[in-house]
Amino acid sequence: MISRARETLETFHIRTYGCQMNVHDSDKLANLLYHSGLEAAPGPDQADVLVINTCSIRDKAENQLYSDLGALRDWKEAAPARVIGVGGCVAQQVGDSLLKRFPHLDFVFGTHNLRQVPSMLQAALAGQRASETGESRSLERFDMPELHPGMRAQGDGRAFVTVMEGCDMFCSFCIVPRTRGREISRPAAMILEEARSLAASGVREITLLGQTVNAYGRHAERRGRGTESGTMAFASLLAELDAVPGLERIRYTSPHPIFFDEALIRAHAELEHLCPHVHLPLQSGSNSVLEAMRRRYSREEYLDITRALRQAVPDLAITTDLIVGFPGETDSDFSDTLDLVRQVGFVDSFSFKYSPRPETAAIELPNAADSSEAQSRLEALQVLQRELTLEHHRSRVGQRVEVLIQGESRRGKGQLCGRDPHHRLVNLAPGESGAAPAARAGDIKTVDLVEATPHSLIGVLAPGEAQAESVLQVGSLALEV
Ligand code: SF4
Repeated sequence: MISRARETLETFHIRTYGCQMNVHDSDKLANLLYHSGLEAAPGPDQADVLVINTCSIRDKAENQLYSDLGALRDWKEAAPARVIGVGGCVAQQVGDSLLKRFPHLDFVFGTHNLRQVPSMLQAALAGQRASETGESRSLERFDMPELHPGMRAQGDGRAFVTVMEGCDMFCSFCIVPRTRGREISRPAAMILEEARSLAASGVREITLLGQTVNAYGRHAERRGRGTESGTMAFASLLAELDAVPGLERIRYTSPHPIFFDEALIRAHAELEHLCPHVHLPLQSGSNSVLEAMRRRYSREEYLDITRALRQAVPDLAITTDLIVGFPGETDSDFSDTLDLVRQVGFVDSFSFKYSPRPETAAIELPNAADSSEAQSRLEALQVLQRELTLEHHRSRVGQRVEVLIQGESRRGKGQLCGRDPHHRLVNLAPGESGAAPAARAGDIKTVDLVEATPHSLIGVLAPGEAQAESVLQVGSLALEV
């Protein structure tokens, strides 16, 4: 409990926007707050401290913060001792101007300043408003306390592990190099220790995180300084992790196409626990748009990578990110994107309209796309993706897969759901008795896939897996993503 003479802060709630790195940062922050004696609250109304972890990848996400903060005036007025903090990419980008604009905001922290939040809370109790957004090249920012029992209780057998952070690629549309700073890779020994400790605490699946995760250690490797920095080639790191006892699944996100070397492709063929799924951001299927985006690969090179990966793992599921309406994108460029999406046969994709971001090179580009044209391109792309996703799901019916149970399905009625190794969502149908399958979050169950829907697969426990009344126990981490 953080306290002074007459006031205490006992509960917190974290509202998270954006990517998996932000979700992981919110987990780290929750862990720090547990260690400071606070407890997670189910929502803002029950919380003394509300932290908003922001995203600035698109203007919509940034505007969401401003509207949230406006709406939170009443929340604070209802109990003035409450504390509001803002972190993440928007905080990094605009810094203490947030404090000037929103007088009811207590503190602002940047992407490198998570560890300072408990002391900022203490200062807030003393009536001090603070902003900490300094960038750090030190590895100290990755030093986090052990997982608190309060966090462990909410586990579902999965965990993120940061291997590198920041980005030196400067794609013309992307604000991330400004908000997350320059690339920095953690020493392999630190990553392996974290993975071993997670596995020992019951985690079955880890997802390695980095803005360009497969660029891990590249600067040191190129200069022959891998030993000095404690890093190694990304494929070697995967091989070391593959041997960690208890880890059943390894994933990574997001890689950059240009860092797929032979060793990484071979790793997919050889490593037992590396999942048959790669999220490989494409952004556009047109060479001229890719060049204007400064993506540093052509559609032909991207296709070559996907072919090599599929040679290594024939049933590999490939998913992607796409942007439509980039400045100068013509009908013909967009047709190239549709064509490449069909050729690769993406199992799923995240697609968005281009959103101009401050301090990026693309903001200067002429020929901004017409908004309604961009919208209709987005819809056409999403129609195509739905067809491809359903096609993939149908091709899977009849297969037997291992599903890592995550918790209760959105379909409700006590149904469970989980992910298969291809990262497809599998909803478990009730058994013949109508009872939910006997499983709990974090279990790996053998499942027969019996039906395909546009968004998920339906499965039943394979014969031999017990059917009984549900013993589901799912934690409820106070995160909104
Ligand atoms: S690789 Fe490009 S899109 Fe990805 S984080 Fe770096 S600058 Fe942004």
